[in-house]
Amino acid sequence: MNDDQLLRYSRHILLPQLGIEGQEKFRRAHALVVGAGGLGSPVALYLAAAGVGTLTICDGDAVDLTNLQRQIVHRSDAIGVSKAASARQTLATINPEVKVNALAERVTGARLEELVAGSGIVLDCSDNFATRHAINRACVAHRKPLVSGAGVRFDGQVAVFDLREAQSPCYHCLFPEHGDNEDMRCAVMGVFAPLVGIIGATQAAEALKLIAGIGESLNGRLLLLDSLAMEWRTVRLERDPACAVCGERSF
Ligand SMILES: [Zn+2]
Repeated sequence: MNDDQLLRYSRHILLPQLGIEGQEKFRRAHALVVGAGGLGSPVALYLAAAGVGTLTICDGDAVDLTNLQRQIVHRSDAIGVSKAASARQTLATINPEVKVNALAERVTGARLEELVAGSGIVLDCSDNFATRHAINRACVAHRKPLVSGAGVRFDGQVAVFDLREAQSPCYHCLFPEHGDNEDMRCAVMGVFAPLVGIIGATQAAEALKLIAGIGESLNGRLLLLDSLAMEWRTVRLERDPACAVCGERSF
């Protein structure tokens, strides 16, 4: 690390749990962020500011005016620009040392598999169940830690599925797949702006902890936030031995 880096990351380096070693782990890390909307914005901002070396950000949408109330990585002058490219542009002004791969596409199938396999940690910041389940399947197949977040109206949730561990539940254990009809598309729902900030920042914190290998992750716990009452609930998650996605794993 050079002098500028030692200064930039000094408040991390001062933390005995992180130190230079933890910061080096961030620099060597590659995080896949699926979705550059309300959750992906704080996730990308914090991971970039914190010095995660490589971020791959995928989003098939372009920025529009209705996004700007909560999708804080995008600026007014980015309306019409792909969200992935807009995020890369903002992140470059915050931390030019971070390499950002901006993919202006809704990733699925083999493409998603390839991206998950090539990353060290995956953050699900998507807004639909089809994508969430596809990400989960790829993370189970490639045994990658998955940090999952969701938020609509005043309600949010966040969980970690550390699929490197044999006994970890997966997203499908918790939310079995019933097709796409259950989607609560936030494209047509109200969303309290700071809600996605709180959930996304929590996802970023969990990702950094997992990368550095510090503390206790949310693995096996689902945190539920009612931001109107500002109350958090914790639900313990069990692996479903009959789960159609992770039940067949042989470790
Ligand atoms: Zn499962």
